Formats: sequence, structure tokens, C-alpha cells
Amino acid sequence: MKVVEEQRIRVMEGSWSPVSVIREIVESGVQEDPFYVMDLGEVVARYQQWKELLPRVEPFYAVKCNDDKLLLTTLAALGTGFDCASKAEIELVTSLGVPPERIIFANPAKMASHIRYASAVGVDVMTFDSEIELMKIKQYMPHAQLLIRIRCDAASAQCPLGIKFGCDPVTEAPRLLKLASVLGLDVAGVSFHVGSGAAEAAVFGRGVQLARSLFSAARDLGLRPRLLDLGGGYPGIAAQHHFMLEIAEVVNAALESHFPERSVRVVAEPGRYFAAAAYTLAAMVHSKREIPAKEGEDADTHTMYFINDGVYGSFNCVLYDHQIVSAEPLHDRADSVLPCSVWGPSCDALDCVMESALLPPLDAGDWLVFRDMGAYTIPIASPFNGFPVPRVRAVVDAGLWTGGLREAWPPLDEECRAAPDLTPDLTSDLTPTHRAVFVECALK
Ligand code: PLP
Repeated sequence: MKVVEEQRIRVMEGSWSPVSVIREIVESGVQEDPFYVMDLGEVVARYQQWKELLPRVEPFYAVKCNDDKLLLTTLAALGTGFDCASKAEIELVTSLGVPPERIIFANPAKMASHIRYASAVGVDVMTFDSEIELMKIKQYMPHAQLLIRIRCDAASAQCPLGIKFGCDPVTEAPRLLKLASVLGLDVAGVSFHVGSGAAEAAVFGRGVQLARSLFSAARDLGLRPRLLDLGGGYPGIAAQHHFMLEIAEVVNAALESHFPERSVRVVAEPGRYFAAAAYTLAAMVHSKREIPAKEGEDADTHTMYFINDGVYGSFNCVLYDHQIVSAEPLHDRADSVLPCSVWGPSCDALDCVMESALLPPLDAGDWLVFRDMGAYTIPIASPFNGFPVPRVRAVVDAGLWTGGLREAWPPLDEECRAAPDLTPDLTSDLTPTHRAVFVECALK
């Protein structure tokens, strides 16, 4: 039963927003656990924006960023490819009906059994950045189409990746290309990743330029490079729209200047670009402590708020992804804001969501909304200390759903019924402000 409920999509009519949906669920009065509202429409809008901004670049969504089936199925329906890092991710994506040609095995250091699995299911394109990887691939999958992953770091990034992956394009890559050629392997092209949450647009230009020179070096060795992979690093939130425009301008200009030939296929591996903004998290304040200002100190009382999701749950992104989250009260408050901190529910002092925030006075039972929470949150969250990982409640606008998205999805067991069952785990008698139907998705 749980599985079916988790795969339920609420089709929204009239005017609504993720926050109005959260409000409605919360106002049922019986919701206690944190939850996400996931808007499929946001994913569709981002896909359309990608096509407009980067018409030459095919997106292969990086599954590691958020492996929620609702997101993967929406992207599969839209026609994106997928970047998988492991056997399990390949299994997941192929189980949704995605053909192996639409998957890149983009982990430069792969386990032998994972290479054998990729070979067995026909995922032919994979990355490498070392000699030993070439040897393993020669042994287990000599027909693989290889992308040499080079290092090309943004001046700064939330999560730099070059410290772990990517061979030096000048000192190491030529030698690796030579070895690949001697081994008779197929080097299909070049890939790089500028760093996740990159803060520099120009780095994409440098990456494309480096790739160009390695294409030439590979051709001189008799290899047949034909695929350029621009990796990830694209921003995922509306507030960074201008930065995305800047990146697109750099990428398009670099492609025109270094890869004018259309015979070279260009792909990228965006993760947070597709995942971040589609997920809005709602978490409830369940306790608080007032810390009085110390005598003689010119400071206000500080309030510590305890909420039902923390760094062992969704807010792992504060620790691992170096995100700075911001909270807004679900219900508008006329009160002025006061200094406070926000803590997770576990009995661990590390479990601090926001060390220093400004919020209006809140009480136990008040809810906070955290926007842009879809990237590097859900797949890493754990139920540590007995606090459940928030459930995802998917919504989609009726116009978008009936206007094509529904047909693009896999066959659905549709069970359309009028609200009031806003929160399937509840049996309350709600009078919803939105008319909605639920669709049970036939995702296994
Ligand atoms: N590709 C690879 C190989 C990655 O390791 C990552 C993230 O770590 C991504 C793509 C996605 O990056 P982003 O979410 O910054 O777009």
C-alpha cells in the first residue's frame, strides 16, 4: 500500500503553488512528519529552458543528485539521457524503460562487476581517467566507447570534483590516449566536470578548448573521437537564472568556435539543474528553547527552534553539499524577525540546520518552508535516531498533465477521485481549496 501511495501524483486544477499545497496539507491538522511537495511542471519547464539555452547539448541527468522515481520518470518521458555512477543506478534507470543508449556510465573508477553489468545490458559509453581503468575495460568490455575525463576546475565551486577525478589534460591525458590506442580501445571522446555548484561560467570555455586539443591528439593517434561531454555544474535555482544564461552563452560560443562540425555529438550531465527547484520541503517546529542574553551583553534573547527534519535527513545537504538553506514561515507573520537558530530532531549536537537565522517568533506546531531542496538531499537522507525521511507528494498542473505529459509517461493505473483525500495516510474530512485528482503511477 505504501508503495502505491508514494507514487501518487496529485493533478491540480485552478491556481495553486507548491506552498499553497503545503498549506492545505498542513491545515488538515494531522500532518506531523516533514514532507516534500514535488512539482513535475518545474522539471518540464527546466527541460524546455535547457533546450532553448543549449540547443546543441543533450542533457544526461546525473541520477546521483536525486534518484526519486517521479523525477527520473518525468525526465525519461521528456527524453533526456541519464548519467549513472553504479550498477544499481543503471538498474534503476533501465527498469523505467530507458534504453541503454541513453545512459552514460560516468564514473571514472568503476568496479569490475559493474563494468561487466554495463556490458551485459548494453551501456556502452563510460568514462576513464587512469591506466588501471583502461586495463579493466580492456579485460571486461573491450568494445566500450570511452570518454577520457580530464580535470578542468571552476575557480570556485560548492563541491569541487577535480580533487578526486579527471586526469591532467596536458601531462596525463596524451599518455592515456596512447595507451588506449595501443590496447585497441575505442576512445569516443572527452568529458570534464567543472565542479558541482560551480561559481564560474568561463570555465566551460576552458573545458571545451582543452577537449578540442585532445580530440586532435586522439585523431593523430588514429582514434575516432566524436562525443563531447560537458559534465555537470549548472545552477538549479531560479535566483541563479542569470548565471545559467551566462553559462549558456559561454558554452554556445565555445562550441561554435572549437567544435563547429555537427558530426561531434555534445552531451552534458546536469544534476542540480533539474532537481533542485522542483522540491519544496515542509518541516514543523516541535520544540524551542529561549536562551537569555548574557548579562551586560548587548544582544537579544536567542531562540533555538527544533524541527522534525535535520542534517541526518534532508539537511544532509548542509554538511555534504555545503548548501546554505533558508526558511520561511508557512503562514505570514506580521511580527518582526528575531535572531534564532534551527536544529534537527536527533539527539546529536551536530544536527544544526541553520546556525543563525532571522525568523518571526514561532511556536511548536508552526511550519517552515524550505524551497529548492531537490538536489543532493533525498538519496543521502537516513532515518537516524528514528526520524523518518520525508515523503514526497507529487503535484502537476492539470493543463500540463493532460496537455501531453501524461501520454509521455509509462502506462498508469489511473484511479481518479475527487479530493478530499489530500494526505493519503489520513482519513480526515477536508474541504480542499483545490479540486484535485490522484493518479496511481504504475512505477514498480
Ligand atoms: N556528473 C558527474 C560525474 C558527477 O559526479 C556529478 C555530481 O557530482 C554530476 C554530473 C552532477 O553535477 P551537478 O549536480 O553539479 O550538475
